[in-house]
Amino acid sequence: MNDCLFCRIVAGEIPVKKVYEDEHTFAFEDVNPQAPTHVLVVPKKHIIGLKEASAEDADIVGLCHLAAAQIARQRGIENGYRTVLNVGPGAGQSVFHLHVHLLGGRDLKWPPG
Ligand code: AMP
Repeated sequence: MNDCLFCRIVAGEIPVKKVYEDEHTFAFEDVNPQAPTHVLVVPKKHIIGLKEASAEDADIVGLCHLAAAQIARQRGIENGYRTVLNVGPGAGQSVFHLHVHLLGGRDLKWPPG
């Protein structure tokens, strides 16, 4: 989608600090980090969010999480990290292209706010 921020990032139209890329996923540093590691992993396919995903998106949603796990392993933060999808405006979703937040490198409280 031409007007989607994360589609434009995947297309290289908006500069980001790229962390990882494969056939189906793209990962980059969050511009407003909430932890020492705060990476966003997005599918290259435009999916609005988790509640809009369908069965055919199961693999890609899983691949985004596995990419996050690989990044966490590479960064040595496996003692504790969190993967988060904010689903809908009430949960803080502000960009309507599905994305997994990978947060780590500090103590993470539970429950999140
Ligand atoms: P959410 O609020 O769950 O939709 O998450 C959207 C995230 O995208 C936020 O954490 C923002 O800081 C991040 N973000 C927005 N614009 C950019 C950008 N141009 N580059 C990197 N991260 C961004």
